[in-house]
Amino acid sequence: MADTYRPRMLSGSRLFWQVFPAFLLITTGALLISHWYGSYALKTFYYNNMVKRLEINCTLLRQWVETHLADPNTEISHLQSTINSLGDETGVRLTVILPDGKVIADSDEKPEHMDNHFNRAEIHEAIETGDFGQSFRFSNTIGTESAYVALPIYDEEKNLRAVVRASRTVSEIDGTLDSLRNKILLGALLAAGLITLVSWVMARKISRPIEIMTVGALRFAEGDLSRKIHIDGANELENLADAMNRMANELNSRFETILKQRNEQAAVLDAMIEGVLAINEEGRIINMNPACMKMLDTAPSAMGKAIYEIIRNSELIAFVDRVNRTEMPVKDEILLNEGSLSVQTSGVQLYGVGGKHLGALLVLHDITELKRLENIRREFVANVSHELRTPITSIKGFIETLLDGALEDHENAKRFLEITLRHTDRLNAIISDILCLSRIERDEENNTVEMQEGHLADLTTSVVQICQAKADKREIKLQSLCAPDLRVRMNAPLLEQAVCNLVDNAINYSDPGTEVALHVHKNKETIRIQVVDHGCGIPSDHLSRLFDRFYRVDRARSRDLGGTGLGLSIVKHIVQAQGGRVGVTSKVGEGSTFWIDLPVHLEPAENIPQ
Ligand code: ADP
Repeated sequence: MADTYRPRMLSGSRLFWQVFPAFLLITTGALLISHWYGSYALKTFYYNNMVKRLEINCTLLRQWVETHLADPNTEISHLQSTINSLGDETGVRLTVILPDGKVIADSDEKPEHMDNHFNRAEIHEAIETGDFGQSFRFSNTIGTESAYVALPIYDEEKNLRAVVRASRTVSEIDGTLDSLRNKILLGALLAAGLITLVSWVMARKISRPIEIMTVGALRFAEGDLSRKIHIDGANELENLADAMNRMANELNSRFETILKQRNEQAAVLDAMIEGVLAINEEGRIINMNPACMKMLDTAPSAMGKAIYEIIRNSELIAFVDRVNRTEMPVKDEILLNEGSLSVQTSGVQLYGVGGKHLGALLVLHDITELKRLENIRREFVANVSHELRTPITSIKGFIETLLDGALEDHENAKRFLEITLRHTDRLNAIISDILCLSRIERDEENNTVEMQEGHLADLTTSVVQICQAKADKREIKLQSLCAPDLRVRMNAPLLEQAVCNLVDNAINYSDPGTEVALHVHKNKETIRIQVVDHGCGIPSDHLSRLFDRFYRVDRARSRDLGGTGLGLSIVKHIVQAQGGRVGVTSKVGEGSTFWIDLPVHLEPAENIPQ
């Protein structure tokens, strides 16, 4: 069997937690990059701006220092004081350095306290290039990070006279940059908050319909195709939900059709009296109807099991093998349930789409009753032939004897003719009993036995009248007892014939001087007519077959008494045709009691014809 599909639990909103953090990461990343780049650009801008201003300061200072150095009367102290005042006015630190690196004036520090500046990077660069030199570094003199710009001064012979330098601490720029950066960060945080909110809404908007569809699809997978998926979202998702709903509809109607067909098929199989058994290629049972289960004495749990596990009957297993080996349909007759069930089996191989071999189909038809009837018929024909042969042979023998000359011997001829007449009577009796039996059977089968309500006392009186002469002849006392108001639905002439047969037998098989009683009484739901004799009785091993056709306990005695062996069979069929039952109890040497039970179906008394 294929693995059953188990829906995975939807944890909260899986898709949401995949989309939302991604949104957040991208937007936060973009914000951080733009914040970093903005800060960097601002810093570069401010620094470049500062350098530009320091260059202007240097250029101006160079002109003044050039003039100043060109004048031989100028004193260094004057230079220092001018630098000081210029520095104060511009807020820029100004320094004048000689070519050997000695500082001769500085706006922020006394030159004599200052180191040799020859190796300062900006000084070095300015001397090297003959143009602006610049550097950003920590100033040991003032103890802060500063920006430096230096410009060399040459005399007319292009000899280096001095280097002027302008510098400014970058801490104030850094302060401005920090405050700007903080503002940008605040803006970025606000934007991040807004973006988070928007991302959350967007992620929800994207994930929600997909979650709804996932839940819907899982529902469909579990077999609940009745509830539809409803989505408000992008057109594509709505179209997808529509397509899934249509698919569910289609599946639903197909399932319904399949279910209907399966139910119809099951109903047909259930209603069949023939057993139907389908097995697959591996010999496992794939279908079996109740009739088949009954025949094989198995249960629905046998479905899916190997046929060899279920069927113990070697004949049937051999038949299945034969079906599997033969392309053509196979037929046979098999005995099941230890011979109590005769089954006609038909088997054919099953082929699916594209001629694929699927297994085999067996149909089992219970023919037990058919067989029984066939046996009865065969037995009956044999019995009839046998019964007729004796009188016919005798008749033929006597006629031949007469023809051979016995006709002249009048005395013997008369005796022969009397014997022939007796045999003819016997033939007549057998034939009329056979005809009577077949007429009753036909009426019984066609349900055309005419029934009317009548008094049973009338019936007993009539039977006694018919049998009295024979009883008297055999010196048997015939007694009858029946309440005058007892009535029953019956076919009076047939029932009279049946009771006559019983009384006749009772007289035949009783000894002279004994009594035969015909009693009718009412039980709870039946009316019982019973004939009791004190005759020879019947051995118990004969009782079960006593009502069969041509069955006799003592053949010779029956024949001597002119019996046909059909009397009790006629009784049984007459009674059955009227919805009743017959039976017998007997003891050898003590007598027998034959009884007929008729169902009580009485109508109100006023409707009874008197
Ligand atoms: P038959 O024509 O031989 O009497 P029945 O069908 O009437 O045929 O009876 C079948 C057999 O049952 C008889 O041959 C007889 O052996 C036995 N039988 C029937 N009635 C009695 C009875 N009252 N007492 C003893 N045997 C009986």
